[in-house]
Amino acid sequence: MKILVVNAGSSSLKYQLFDMDTGVVIAKGNCEKIGIDGSITHKRPGKEPYKADVALNNHDDAIALVLKLLTDPELGVLADISEIGAVGHRVAHGGERLRGSTLLDDAALAYLNSIVEINPLHGPPAIKGIEACRRKMPSVPQVGVFDTSFYSTVPEKAYIYPLPYELYEQYKIRRYGFHGTSHRYVSAAAAELAGRAYDDLKIIVCHIGNGSSITAIDHGRAVDTSMGFTPQEGLPMGTRSGTIDPTVVPYIMKKMNLTADEVEDLLNRKSGLLGVSGVSSDCRFVMEAEAKGDKRAALALDILVHYMKKIIGSYIAEMNGLDVLCFTAGIGENDADIRARVTKDMDYLGIAVDAARNEGLGRGNKGEISADGARVRTFVIPTDEEFMIAKDTYEIVTKS
Ligand code: ADP
Repeated sequence: MKILVVNAGSSSLKYQLFDMDTGVVIAKGNCEKIGIDGSITHKRPGKEPYKADVALNNHDDAIALVLKLLTDPELGVLADISEIGAVGHRVAHGGERLRGSTLLDDAALAYLNSIVEINPLHGPPAIKGIEACRRKMPSVPQVGVFDTSFYSTVPEKAYIYPLPYELYEQYKIRRYGFHGTSHRYVSAAAAELAGRAYDDLKIIVCHIGNGSSITAIDHGRAVDTSMGFTPQEGLPMGTRSGTIDPTVVPYIMKKMNLTADEVEDLLNRKSGLLGVSGVSSDCRFVMEAEAKGDKRAALALDILVHYMKKIIGSYIAEMNGLDVLCFTAGIGENDADIRARVTKDMDYLGIAVDAARNEGLGRGNKGEISADGARVRTFVIPTDEEFMIAKDTYEIVTKS
């Protein structure tokens, strides 16, 4: 069976077509500048990428173009659209009700529409992508895979904020957690790499990219995660502040005469690595600046490492131990230096990394970097959210 995985953003739509008999991606690409002018990059393994500027007024146009290319006699990989057995959609937020991957029927879509208020950035484009696929492929099952659903096992004490309880009841303000599909994939792959049963392990996954989060998985169940009501909480990120004293918000609103939207923009787009360093949101450029002696760049990286250590330590305390520590995503997979800084002086907690193994692990490779004899096994595992979405989708449509 072929499964099409769709990740729709406000002006982009990424896709991957999986052949589930082999688990291989047979075509993938990205529609960009939807609603602005429009372009597409379409790739097939071993072939030259196809790039074109094509007017894309909306997500319907983007999906129509993707389907046209997938079945194109020259550029395509399918004889007919009917070969697509199902479509799996990446959806950031499943709210409290969508606690697992599910068929996107009218009721599920109505629920997604009802929670747009708590997911204003990612909700509307995801819904547009789903609706476009339903219109263009009416007989093909559509499945939603939610970044939040991995956290349905997090206990109340970790997801209820110590605010008036009515805020939870009335506005559903609570920790939801994000990047769940990545944490789920990486933790399962880690158990496999460790040669142990998933539900026999205490695992911490550090997903460190432009957006970053850390999740604790205790005997197969996510028990805590650093992102919260929105992806803003927790670690400092490329441009997001992560956790700060909440009183800073009203204080700067008054001091700087900012509106709610303006302060949100400051916390979301002008903080984190970019805000502290003043150099870039991209870790590579911040590191280059640090190497040239830029003190604020060095400070930005120190803060990132400090918060990572703090969260890892607190999750070890919550789980009363740790078997496996994993690094993933842009920085976690590629940046041996950040991994070395985070794991330095953690031998008290059983974490010790071998410098040669850490630096020797090539880009995009998975492997173990722990020092011999370390109590905790430390792994680097490239994430693959799309594969997880395809797998869930396949399981749902073949079971139903
Ligand atoms: P997103 O959260 O947007 O998916 P990614 O997971 O792709 O982001 O991570 C982007 C981050 O990864 C950037 O800060 C970038 O500097 C960093 N990164 C990517 N490749 C490397 C590399 N080879 N070495 C160090 N950092 C890298």
